[in-house]
Amino acid sequence: MFQVRSGASKVPLCKVFKSIAELVDGEGSGVVNPMPLFSAFVQKVHMQGQQDAEEGMTLFFDTIDDPIINRIIMHRYRITTACVCGDQTSRVEENYFVKIHRNDLVETSFGDHILSNTCSVGDFKCEKCSQMGCTYTARLVYAPHIFVVLLDKYDEKYPVNYPMTLDIPKKTGGSHSYRLVAKISHAGEAAYGHYTATCMRGGIITFNDEYMYPGSLVDDGNTVVLFYHRLE
Ligand SMILES: [Zn+2]
Repeated sequence: MFQVRSGASKVPLCKVFKSIAELVDGEGSGVVNPMPLFSAFVQKVHMQGQQDAEEGMTLFFDTIDDPIINRIIMHRYRITTACVCGDQTSRVEENYFVKIHRNDLVETSFGDHILSNTCSVGDFKCEKCSQMGCTYTARLVYAPHIFVVLLDKYDEKYPVNYPMTLDIPKKTGGSHSYRLVAKISHAGEAAYGHYTATCMRGGIITFNDEYMYPGSLVDDGNTVVLFYHRLE
């Protein structure tokens, strides 16, 4: 996660965020106008050029830096690196989103991959035996209220069957159920293209710049971010 050098503004963005969240349009559309928040955000971080969804979201939440919002959206994984000599280290990392590749889902289900995944890392040198290479295992230890999954946009694009609902076991037994409530799509190539958002707002609505129309949360190959919301 990179740090943001904030500008002269002393008004915490989290306050702007909260005030905007309360401005749900009273006409019944249930849509929040994001422009005041976006303007405050741009003023604060002096954005230059365009960010992709991953960079933009990281920058946005780093800038808001509100403990309540972070608790709602940040998950935690325990990361274990293990060498063939038996040496292993473990740490807990928190982040706003889990990144997965479309081809991760060929042999493992989406839900299983979210809970735990393992891969080999070549450019790791063991401190104990100096061998290169290790096994890297990530195990989900805390799932927040809103669970965000990023599909790597540099992968070949093809539709995958991510689930509309997701069950994540609780430590105390049973499980939390999550429902897919929104996605961000990116049409075009990795270096250029166009973003749209599709959200559950009574029906499923796609927001495409100033246009709104009925949409679908199913993948058309262009999905880059998924938002799962915990059902209480
Ligand atoms: Zn070793």
